[in-house]
Amino acid sequence: MLTTIILPYPIWICHECGVKYGKRIPDLATYHEDTCGICQQTKAVTEPRDYGHIPTTRSGDIEVDVNDVLLDSTTTQ
Ligand SMILES: [Zn+2]
Repeated sequence: MLTTIILPYPIWICHECGVKYGKRIPDLATYHEDTCGICQQTKAVTEPRDYGHIPTTRSGDIEVDVNDVLLDSTTTQ
């Protein structure tokens, strides 16, 4: 059984999350070190736009596999 979690639309996403949830693989993207809006890890991230954007729910949030999210990190806002 797949459990999903609703997250706000990410500002930055890492390559792994982009590949899994985006619609395409970027030919060229500019990465920098920041927090991925999906897995919550600090790593090389870029804009979701570079992956063709991530499909959203009706409210504009995203639904991701709970296993992809680092749940022990406390939400900062
Ligand atoms: Zn990620």
